Amino acid sequence: MADFLRVNRRLFLAQLGKGTMAMVVFGACGDTAGSGGTPSTSSTGPPTTPGGTTSSATTSSPATSSASLTTSPAAQAQFQRVNLGFVSAYIVVRGTEAAIVDTGVSGSEGEIEAALGEVGLGWDQVGHVILTHRHPDHQGSAPAVLEAARGATGYAGEGDLDGITAPRQLTSVVDGDNVFGLDVVGTPGHTAGHICLLDPLAGVLVAGDALVGAEGGVAAPDPQFSSDHEEALRSVEKLAGLVYEQILFGHGEPVTTGGSGLVADLAAGL
Ligand SMILES: [Zn+2]
Repeated sequence: MADFLRVNRRLFLAQLGKGTMAMVVFGACGDTAGSGGTPSTSSTGPPTTPGGTTSSATTSSPATSSASLTTSPAAQAQFQRVNLGFVSAYIVVRGTEAAIVDTGVSGSEGEIEAALGEVGLGWDQVGHVILTHRHPDHQGSAPAVLEAARGATGYAGEGDLDGITAPRQLTSVVDGDNVFGLDVVGTPGHTAGHICLLDPLAGVLVAGDALVGAEGGVAAPDPQFSSDHEEALRSVEKLAGLVYEQILFGHGEPVTTGGSGLVADLAAGL
């Protein structure tokens, strides 16, 4: 999402101003984003730890927008879509470390590996494999991906853990946890343990199947596939209360701007 990096660079420079140091620090980050580079060591902002791996019930405000970019620019994430046909997985890159969100159907690991290569990374740089929910088109390749990314921790929502087979124990996450700088948003209804992931700094929501992409816009999940559709609609309302620009769906083309406004409109019409 190069556009996003550009937008945030402007905001960053606007906020941190004219300091040559700040520009140099950012330049280093911008040059290395996606092609390997230095990890987050800059200290121009508060001590956020997007590379952290532990669940930590953050208190980061949903009202934080991408305009409030006060953290280290090296913490800025790049989101890479892995378009697997009717479903998408995503790679989140921070410096030289990556998280994979969802894995597609069984047999998708080759395409995910190719997408990692496109951003200059390999399996050894994958520290996290996060599954939005238990459906096979999202976690079907989780066993192969976790075998390949041997150093990665796997995560899934507490309510979906028993529906997922993995080569090692998955870490259970719930609403309010944070993995790799991504806020876990509990969004049950499509499945009992469905989660979305929000990067409040980048203004990006990875929606899984809690929302569906619809010709540049956004739609509610299909009741045909909801384990509890009333609850799924309440989760849409919950997502309408958060702040983000981009939405990355399990199914459908991403929304690139105005995301939370579109979801608020959708929720108002439910
Ligand atoms: Zn699903």
